[in-house]
This record gives sequence, C-alpha cells and structure tokens, in this order.
Amino acid sequence: NKQVIFRDFVSGFPQESDFIVSSSSIRLKLPEASNGVLLKTLYLSCDPFMRFLMESRPPATSYSPGSLLFGFGVARVLESAHSNFKEGDLLWGMLKWEEYSVVEEPEKLFKIQHTDVPLSYYTGILGMPGITAYFGFHDICSPKKGEYVFVSAASGAVGQLVGQLAKLMGCYVVGSAGSREKIELLKNKFGFDEVFNYKEERDLNAALKRCFPEGIDIYFENVGGKTLDAVLLNMRPHGRIAVCGMISQYNLGQSEGVHNLLRLMTQRVRMEGFRAPDYFHRYAEFLEAMLPYIREGKITYVEDTVHGLERGPAALIGLFSGRNVGKQVVAISTE
Ligand code: NDP
Repeated sequence: NKQVIFRDFVSGFPQESDFIVSSSSIRLKLPEASNGVLLKTLYLSCDPFMRFLMESRPPATSYSPGSLLFGFGVARVLESAHSNFKEGDLLWGMLKWEEYSVVEEPEKLFKIQHTDVPLSYYTGILGMPGITAYFGFHDICSPKKGEYVFVSAASGAVGQLVGQLAKLMGCYVVGSAGSREKIELLKNKFGFDEVFNYKEERDLNAALKRCFPEGIDIYFENVGGKTLDAVLLNMRPHGRIAVCGMISQYNLGQSEGVHNLLRLMTQRVRMEGFRAPDYFHRYAEFLEAMLPYIREGKITYVEDTVHGLERGPAALIGLFSGRNVGKQVVAISTE
C-alpha cells in the first residue's frame, strides 16, 4: 500500500522533500471490528487549501507531522460492513493519500450516482471546485446578463468554470493566467471574451483598463495581492467581489498589504468571502444544473493528470508555481 506522509510543518513554498512516499504490504480485508468500508483509491485531487493544513497554526485543523496526507478524492468500495454501502459503490470526499484505505464513517462521503461522465470529474467540475465555482458565482456574485466579469487564475480548477458559467449568463468575461498555453485555452476553449497574461503586464491597472474600459461589475478573486489592488481601482458602482481564495499569499508568511480598499466605500462595492463546504448540503441542486451542461457540451473541463501516488507531491506543490494546466488530478488506479 503506497502512501504519502506529511513530514513536518512548512513555512514558505512547500517542497517535494516535505513529503515522504512509503510503501508497505497490507491484507486487503476490513478489520474484524470495523463498521466502515475498505476503499480502493482511484483519483486524488490537488487543491490549494491543502497548503493551509501544512502550517503549524492554521485556523482549524492541520496535518500532523509524520501522518498521512489527506484531501479530496474518488474511491471504489472493495468491502463494506456499513449498511448504506456495498462492494462496487463509488464515492467522493475526503480521503487519505494512500492506495487502499479503511474509512470508518463513509456516510461523510458522497455516493457517486452518475457514471456517464469521467470519474475524475468528481475531484473537479462535479466535486469541491465545481461547487465553489457554481455557488461562488451565482450566490455570492449575484450576476446579471451583460455585466462585466473578471476572473483571476482563470484556467484553473475553479476559474475555468466561473468563466464558462459567466458566459452562459450572458456576461462579458475577462480572465487572467500566467502562461501563453493557459491564455490560449481561455480564449479558444473556454470562450473568454478577453484575456491577459499577468506575468507579461507591467501595469495590471492598465491591463484591466484596456480590457474593461467601462469598469468591472464582478471580480471572482482567486489570487489576491497586486491583482486585487488593481481590480479595486476598476470596480464599477455596486460591484461585487467574491473572495474565493488568494493563492499569491499562501506561501508568504505575512500577507502583502492591499492599498485600495477605500474604493469599496466610494464605489459601494460588496466584498464577500465564502467556503465550498457551506454549500455541500446543496449538492443535489448543483448536480441538476451542472450535469446537463456537461452532457450537452455547454461546459468543457480541462484536467491535468499525473499517474501514480509517487507523483502526487510534485503535482501538489506545482499549484503554487502554476505548473498545472487545468484541474490537477493524481490518477491512482483506473480499475
Ligand atoms: P488552480 O487550478 O487555479 O491552480 C492554482 C493556480 O493558481 C496555478 O495554476 C497558478 O496559475 C495560480 N497561481 C499560483 N501562484 C500564483 C500567484 N503567486 N499569483 C497569481 N496566480 C498564482 O487552483 P483552484 O482552481 O483549485 O483554486 C483557485 C483559487 O480558489 C485558490 O485561491 C483556492 O485557494 C481557491 N479555492 C477556494 C475554495 C473555497 O472554498 N473558498 C475552494 C477551492 C478553491 P497561473 O499560471 O495562472 O498563475
């Protein structure tokens, strides 16, 4: 059973050496006293929030040094002692980073009912990032047809969906990303109206003014820092900023200062944070909206897949240098 162990608390950018990949042989059997399920891991998800859990003093929980990494993933039930689950069931939710796992409270995981889409989608478009994009955009941003929308980290797990949902609403959508390949995707695959590579722009304020001569109604915030400061200078009256995340700040120790917050007052802008788990109870409603979009080809989803648990740590830390193109998935087994 291959596993990924978290070595010790991290400060600054995480490194591959912060993780240990170990291997041991196990009996593929539920322990006698178990009331849970034995799972085979199929896909694991690399998500930026995992960086928070590497801090010694995060807001809530953290990884314990020497213990297994965990995060979202997809698994198949090999054996069950739980009345709600049977062999062959497919589940997504919080899993340990190992090939085989015993889960004592499988009712905390979601049962996968729809298998006409790739199973890996339950780490992305039909999993936590999808919920984030869907409710973050519709509930927090209150979008209206024709509004001007800006999305940062626009080619990623969340951003590519926000952009496409905004287009479906009839908005004018601009995305920023950090490479030419990503810019191409935004324009040619996801249908963004305008795009820019933030690494090639000397003046982000000027780039935004070029793309939004009339200003921004909605900013879906994924990166923070200098981008947020430039956006604040371009918000229209009564605009909304959904604070989904600020990935540019996660490895800094102390966050950069933001200078232009007074614009919230002058422009009567609402800035609101939210978290995906706030919406997990609305999963059925989310699926009802998202599945037809996928089946009818109205939304596409780009994944970046590495194969094998041993490639997981590099894939995870790659999120913080923008190595991933699309949703970063670790495929463990496709059987
Ligand atoms: P992505 O798939 O977008 O991967 C992360 C991307 O962030 C990288 O590919 C990179 O793209 C960009 N990035 C990394 N470092 C920087 C930097 N210093 N400045 C600007 N961009 C950077 O990740 P997700 O879509 O999963 O997550 C996007 C955001 O949403 C994150 O802030 C995350 O924390 C947040 N989030 C929040 C949730 C919530 O519940 N509120 C749930 C899920 C995600 P590039 O090459 O373009 O720089």
